[in-house]
Amino acid sequence: MKNIVIVGAAGRMGKILVRLVQAGIEPGLKLSGAVDLWDCADLGKDAGLVAGAGEAGVLITSDLAALLPAGDVVIDFSAHHGTSGNAPRVAAAGKGLVIGTTGLNADEKKAVEQAAQKIPVVLAPNMSLGMNLLFALVRKAAEALKGKGYDVEIIERHHRRKKDSPSGTAIGLGEAAADGYGWDLKKTAVDGRRGLVGERPVEQIGFHAVRGGDIVGDHTVLFAADGECLELSHRATSRDAFARGALRAAAWVAGRTPGLYSMRDVLGV
Ligand code: NAD
Repeated sequence: MKNIVIVGAAGRMGKILVRLVQAGIEPGLKLSGAVDLWDCADLGKDAGLVAGAGEAGVLITSDLAALLPAGDVVIDFSAHHGTSGNAPRVAAAGKGLVIGTTGLNADEKKAVEQAAQKIPVVLAPNMSLGMNLLFALVRKAAEALKGKGYDVEIIERHHRRKKDSPSGTAIGLGEAAADGYGWDLKKTAVDGRRGLVGERPVEQIGFHAVRGGDIVGDHTVLFAADGECLELSHRATSRDAFARGALRAAAWVAGRTPGLYSMRDVLGV
């Protein structure tokens, strides 16, 4: 049995993770700890009850360090600043780490990369199998269309509560397309367009973020040429797909050699 500590346990993803661990979706995983912020209204409550999954016998606490000795793998779906602060603690304790949190800035990513020198870390902006397949398909499409006049645009749609933009998944899709084209995404990405922006240059990848309602997450990568347009799309209909991937990653990462891994490594796509 691998003992799992969930960070962000009272959040949307945290509750689904608790529910699916309790349901035994990924064999061999056991909930051993649940963490959220000190001012979270659910602090001190049973994580299973908060998740609507029945009593788990694990209370939500804000003290990650106290839970680490008994844990094997930490799954972190919290917030960018929290995740980057947690990574060195998990590394010091020598545990496995699965990070689903998005919106990490360059310094925060560096903290995760440093932790990955000491422990195995899976970092993925999107943990679903379908989306990770889409990353591979987009890279393949870009390799095939490279230099043939196909403009790349990425459109993503999410619920109104999402804090970062464009989504980490959209950036991941942009990276896949840029890799396939042999471009540097940092030099080619533009966020939306407004005003007299002039004609579209060839070496550009446009990102468009739509926010509204309770949309779980839609992503489309458009390859538009003269005379045709290829669209590759993914629609998440429930957050369970991300949580299932995260639990698969947790089972996979325990006992690996230190390093920074992606869901491509976990899923073999
Ligand atoms: P949410 O706001 O519902 O939940 C986040 C929870 O983390 C909250 O309960 C919050 O109190 C807690 N938290 C914040 N900082 C913390 C800290 N320092 N320590 C402990 N707990 C802390 O958000 P959500 O929808 O559950 O998403 C969480 C993160 O996961 C976001 O970054 C989101 O973009 C990302 N996400 C990733 C995937 C994926 O597949 N990788 C899928 C969905 C969401």
